[in-house]
Parts: sequence; C-alpha cells; structure tokens
Amino acid sequence: MKSIILIAAPAAGKGTEAAKLKDEYNMPHISTGDILREKASEDSDLGRDINYKISNGIFVSDELIINILKERIQKEDCNNGYILDGFPRNVSQAEAYQTMLQELGKDLGIVIVIDIDKKIAAQRIAGRRSCPNCKAVYNINNENLIPKVDGICDKCGTKLVQREDDNEETYLDRYNTYIEKTSPLIDFYDRLGVVYHVDGNQGMDYTHEQVEKVLGEVK
Ligand code: AMP
Repeated sequence: MKSIILIAAPAAGKGTEAAKLKDEYNMPHISTGDILREKASEDSDLGRDINYKISNGIFVSDELIINILKERIQKEDCNNGYILDGFPRNVSQAEAYQTMLQELGKDLGIVIVIDIDKKIAAQRIAGRRSCPNCKAVYNINNENLIPKVDGICDKCGTKLVQREDDNEETYLDRYNTYIEKTSPLIDFYDRLGVVYHVDGNQGMDYTHEQVEKVLGEVK
C-alpha cells in the first residue's frame, strides 16, 4: 500500500479516518500531534515548551518535527507505507520531507485532502473528547461517536479528556494557521499530481467511503 498524507483543517476528521485506515490496512498511523502531546507531558524544558505551543495552537519548530518524523519513519513497521496525520504542516516541512524520502529511498505516496466548512469544524471541536492512552477520538455531540459509558474510552477504559486546544478561541487561531500555512501545501502536492479531495462535511462514514474509492483507483 502507498503511504498516505492526510491534509485537513483541525476537526475535519483526519485522526478518525487515519485510525480506520490503520485498522483496515494494518499501516502505522503517525500523528505528529499525538507524538508531541506525549513529549509535552515530560518534565523538561523541551516538554514545557511543547506544552505551551500546543496549548496555544502554535507550531513547534520545523527542525524538531522533522527530526521526530525521520526517526519514526525509519522504524520497521513503516516499511510498507504509513499514514501521516499532521505532517507536513507547511511548505518548508514538505520540502524537507521530499529530501528525507530521497535519502531514505522511500516513496511519497498520495495526499488526501479532507475538505470541511469552517463552521462545521468549529461545532465538532466543542464536543471532541480524546483518549490519552489509546488516542481514540469521540464526540459527545454525535450519536455515532459518543462513548458507550459517559467519559470513558470504549477501547481501553481510560478516562477521556478534552484537549486543551479544543476551545473556540484556540480553534480559530488553529484554523487561520491552517489556511495561511498548511493549505498552500495542497498546491505544492498538486504540482506533483498526487492530490485527491474528499468531502469531510457529511461525517466519518461518508469520508471513509470516499477515501476507499480513491484507494481503489490508485492501487
Ligand atoms: P494536531 O493534533 O495535529 O491538531 O496537532 C496539535 C498541535 O501540535 C498543533 O496545533 C501544533 O502546535 C503541534 N504540531 C503537530 N504537528 C505539527 C507539525 N507538523 N509542525 C509543527 N507543529 C505541529
């Protein structure tokens, strides 16, 4: 299977779609946000700096994220492709990633863009709850995504949390950052002829159906 880069505004359903693909195709799901959230809990200057940035919707440095990613994609489980969620986040990361792939002899794969309206994404953010242990994502405002037991992860029984950056104010900053810094990536990858768009406004099942269709076409 080709590697897949998921690009979307926050709360468009990247993480949920990545988890579905991971289970279905047995490919690792690499979420740079999850990796950073883990590092943010470390009692060190770096941990505190990452924590501050994540809480305020500010990007960590390209250098840090590129080093993290380079280490991760060299692990054996990435030999047959992987799903990237949250990386690259700007054109300079995408350029560095091209160089990295060349050095490591890996293929770029395809880019799937999940399109979503700003208003719908902002509504989803308010209800999003995440499992800090297994990273499963729920939504208390969506009957298909509500946990079976209030506040508890269906998969591993851990207490669910609301991400500190999932509030309306930080969301607007994150959305604007997406438009300014991340959406130019779509043109970058369009020029390489690897971009496929799917509609993220209709919910996770519809998103997944469209992604499956794309994967069927590019196999
Ligand atoms: P996410 O879980 O993808 O929404 O990411 C949460 C936060 O982690 C972002 O708002 C950034 O602060 C940081 N982050 C995640 N991925 C990257 C990246 N590729 N480059 C810089 N910062 C990132």
